[in-house]
Amino acid sequence: MCCDVKRRFLLLYATQKGQAKAIAEEIWQQAGAHGLEADMHCMSEMDKYNLETEKDPVVIVISTTGTGDPPDTARKFVKKIQDAALPPDHFAHLQYGLLGLGDSEYTFFCNGGKTVDRRLQELGAQHFCNTGLADDCVGLELVVDPWIDGLWLALKEAFLLQKEKESMSSVADAASDSLSAAPCIVHKLNLSSKVQNLELGNEGVKSSELSQKLIDINLAASAGDTKPSLVHSVPSLSQSTLNIPALPPEYIEVQFQDTHGENPHLSSLISEGTTFEVPVTKAVQLTREDAIKTALLLELDIADTVFEYQPGDAFCVMCPNNVNEVEELLHVLGLSEKGEYFVSVKVKQGTKKKGAAHPQHIPERSTLKFILTWCLEIRAVPKKAFLRALVECTSDAGEKRRLQELCSRQGASDYTQFIRDSNVCLLDLLRAFPSCRPSLNLLIEHLPKLQARSYSVSSSNLYQPGKLWFVFNIVDFPACPARPVSRKGVCTGWLAELVAPLLHPNKNTLDTKRGSSSTEKISVFARPNNTFHLPADPSVPLIMVGAGTGISPFIGFLQHRQKLREEHTDWEFGETWLFFGCRHQDRDYLFKQLRCFLENGTLSHLKVCFSRDSSTAEAAPPKYVQDLIRLYAKEVARVLLKEKGYFYICGDKKHMADGVSDAVVDILSMAMETDKLEAMKMLAVLREARRYLQDVWS
Ligand code: FAD
Repeated sequence: MCCDVKRRFLLLYATQKGQAKAIAEEIWQQAGAHGLEADMHCMSEMDKYNLETEKDPVVIVISTTGTGDPPDTARKFVKKIQDAALPPDHFAHLQYGLLGLGDSEYTFFCNGGKTVDRRLQELGAQHFCNTGLADDCVGLELVVDPWIDGLWLALKEAFLLQKEKESMSSVADAASDSLSAAPCIVHKLNLSSKVQNLELGNEGVKSSELSQKLIDINLAASAGDTKPSLVHSVPSLSQSTLNIPALPPEYIEVQFQDTHGENPHLSSLISEGTTFEVPVTKAVQLTREDAIKTALLLELDIADTVFEYQPGDAFCVMCPNNVNEVEELLHVLGLSEKGEYFVSVKVKQGTKKKGAAHPQHIPERSTLKFILTWCLEIRAVPKKAFLRALVECTSDAGEKRRLQELCSRQGASDYTQFIRDSNVCLLDLLRAFPSCRPSLNLLIEHLPKLQARSYSVSSSNLYQPGKLWFVFNIVDFPACPARPVSRKGVCTGWLAELVAPLLHPNKNTLDTKRGSSSTEKISVFARPNNTFHLPADPSVPLIMVGAGTGISPFIGFLQHRQKLREEHTDWEFGETWLFFGCRHQDRDYLFKQLRCFLENGTLSHLKVCFSRDSSTAEAAPPKYVQDLIRLYAKEVARVLLKEKGYFYICGDKKHMADGVSDAVVDILSMAMETDKLEAMKMLAVLREARRYLQDVWS
């Protein structure tokens, strides 16, 4: 009897960009084939589940955002479990497995998952399987796929344990229950594991026949090709029987209406607060033409808004997709004529997709062009589930097989190499597989939300009221074999085009009085950072370390300090150090005006290094900021250990932040005359006390 009842487990996901949700959905889908039922909820839907009374195993998939924060949808949950009043056995009844998603490019790798995991452990909950930490930097699937594979066996054991516990408490049924239930579950799970992944044979073609057919196709297609590529595979993959994921059920229905009406306001697309449409009043190219990267400084006029910021804050810019790419996509989809038509997007009646809901980032009614321009990240690297769905829209047999390979378990490394690492997007795929013609609903189902991009403010509202500066590098993606077209970053490419007519002829001058009259406006909203701020007590010394555009928030700090010094001549101000590194002194030294801060006393010490300049000096000068810091080891140790100073790092890559941390550990270890381990503990103490702060982005 028990075998007819599917065993339930609670499946919670907390997602920022949709990845954790997609993985939870994959688990939900596979659960059915294992004779299990996943009761799936977003972590924020706290009225739909209750961990306090939960008896079944719990599976948690959670991503990380910002500087190691749990996603917004997990905030309430995390706050709740972090209540210090909870007893250590609060979750003693709970068995759970956790899969954390993160990116090791960032310092606090998978910290969202680790935070929840650590706290559940503190509250007595027990793992029924090992925690998985998947790294987007090398490919989430490297951890996610085997973790999900192992989940089914672990769940089976968890159910057995649960059954045993239930049996112990139910005296009357104890013996019979535990004896009859266990083999029944095992039997069911064994059976279901065989249908865990659809084999191609299930689609009506015998695998041996299929392999032969495919060898023929591959041979015919490119007899001379011995190397795999995006569109071409080689043995053994080309001859393998493939395990491909189950076809995700479609759940969106799109109807074209008329061309009358207005598109929704951009503010309706975000849930994070109020948007402000503000003019760009100045644009300055901070780098010379021959610099490796082009950095721009933009000034926004926020005077007529209630938008507020502190130096050290970041804010978000809403950006559209590239207009040519949208046009090309419309063309490839055969919808060029329909761009200005309003479409209504609804959930398909009777869809088999669990929890199918109207995607929050798609308006109920807007034009097709609006959706492709403002709502969908059309540059996103297609996930395997998307590739799987694209197989069904591809008519050419060879192309179909290659797409199947790329989403199959056997083709995992091809997927990583030719799709993920090559940053291939939907348009690249549609070019490479011309017989693939997806429907619009498929794009809406599989493309993630177009995210607003974050930037650190590079000014002080006290120093220049009503103005906000920010600095960015124009991101460049050169062409590569899998992607023959070069591109610019979605946001930075768009901003660069937008402000081209404004670009200041006197490059690298930041005269704040000279503004250009501009009509270009952009939509922004706040992304407050609670920690990367100046110390509340101005007498505390501080050390700032920035490379490239990582100097940006420190300009805001320095402007702020300069104004405070002017306004409060009786205040005591602590020593300020700035370590700055870039490639070339005369090409990308972004803020040569730093000297002014030094001259007026706002900055006590300015130390700079240039990684690509050659030197004729006998002793080679330091190349990187971490080398520079080592030169001032005694002073750094004094500020951190004796004077309770603050240490700030900002830059665009983990490598800089890690190099600086290593240098600081060495400096502390020398000053404390201890081994590295003790120094690392001291660094952890400084981090905990929020005196060692990082703002690192990729
Ligand atoms: P995107 O189009 O989003 O591309 C950026 C990334 O996408 C690449 O790094 C790469 O991983 C991937 N990618 C996409 N397509 C390709 C491709 N074809 N080839 C290779 N890779 C590809 N940046 C600044 O310059 N200044 C700042 O002050 C700043 N502050 C930040 C503060 C915070 C809190 C955060 C989270 C980020 C900050 N950033 C800052 C980064 C910024 O938000 C953007 O990520 C950056 O400007 C790139 O945006 P984009 O849309 O132009 O690039």
